[in-house]
Amino acid sequence: MISHLKPLLSNLLNETITKVSSVSGGDISQAYKIYTTKNSYFLKLNSASTLNMFQAEAYGLELIAKTNTIKTPKVIAFDSFENSAFLLMEFIESKRATAEDFKLLGEQLATLHKCTSDSFGLDKDNYIGSLPQSNSAHKTWVKFYTHERLLPQLELAQQKGLLSVSECPSEQHIKNHLELLFKGIKPSLLHGDLWSGNYLISKNSEPYLIDPAVYYGHNEVDIAMTKLFDGFGNAFYESYHSYFPLDENTSARIDIYQLYYLLVHLNLFGSSYYGSVVSILKKYF
Ligand code: ADP
Repeated sequence: MISHLKPLLSNLLNETITKVSSVSGGDISQAYKIYTTKNSYFLKLNSASTLNMFQAEAYGLELIAKTNTIKTPKVIAFDSFENSAFLLMEFIESKRATAEDFKLLGEQLATLHKCTSDSFGLDKDNYIGSLPQSNSAHKTWVKFYTHERLLPQLELAQQKGLLSVSECPSEQHIKNHLELLFKGIKPSLLHGDLWSGNYLISKNSEPYLIDPAVYYGHNEVDIAMTKLFDGFGNAFYESYHSYFPLDENTSARIDIYQLYYLLVHLNLFGSSYYGSVVSILKKYF
């Protein structure tokens, strides 16, 4: 529990803590709602070695917030203390999304995706789930997606004995197959891990993004993740695609972007994701 942290948190907030309750739903850390006499806050807690993860998360939340396109909870602090690391932020009281909320989420995500850069990647590496995610910059999306996304996960799956060498395409093979599909793609600022657990709709109907794995990449990567496990209403896609229309290669790219997330799931959670990974590898490579 968090009793050892209470004095430090009270000090940081300059408020008296009146109650702490557990929040369920996280995969990686323990989560708590911290009540004070004035406000409530959200705390993520893990072992001291995860401070880098919290630092990367805070960086992503603040980078998205700075674009003024879509909200993220305000970060208050991240630090380590004794054997723990923590990330403290604003608590968002949330509700179920209505069609109107999905419409606004789609619009705001599209405006986030209009934020661009002169290369693909980011000035900092981060994490996808608990796995490291390299954001080394590349001038082309084919190079970035091959070297920083597919190859590291394919190699990890081989090391873990989850895929064989013959099941994994070579670097050149991947690049040859992506060249046409990835023509003309421009960098967009992405959330990077946009499944339905990573947005919140506040009680006053403002969309928030949480738990990001940000970088500049192809906007359809975020859309691919929204479609992997569902949880985004039709109004979301209608409003989003009025800014970024679909083209004849979108559906193939969605499969190829889902491959990255499926490889991550294979590496994190094991062989139940093997079939989906292999079927995309066979279809496209
Ligand atoms: P993890 O990184 O461990 O997967 P999450 O970031 O997914 O943790 O958070 C765990 C739970 O807490 C989720 O159900 C999420 O909806 C909720 N949550 C996350 N951030 C906030 C916040 N700022 N305010 C309120 N609830 C939050």
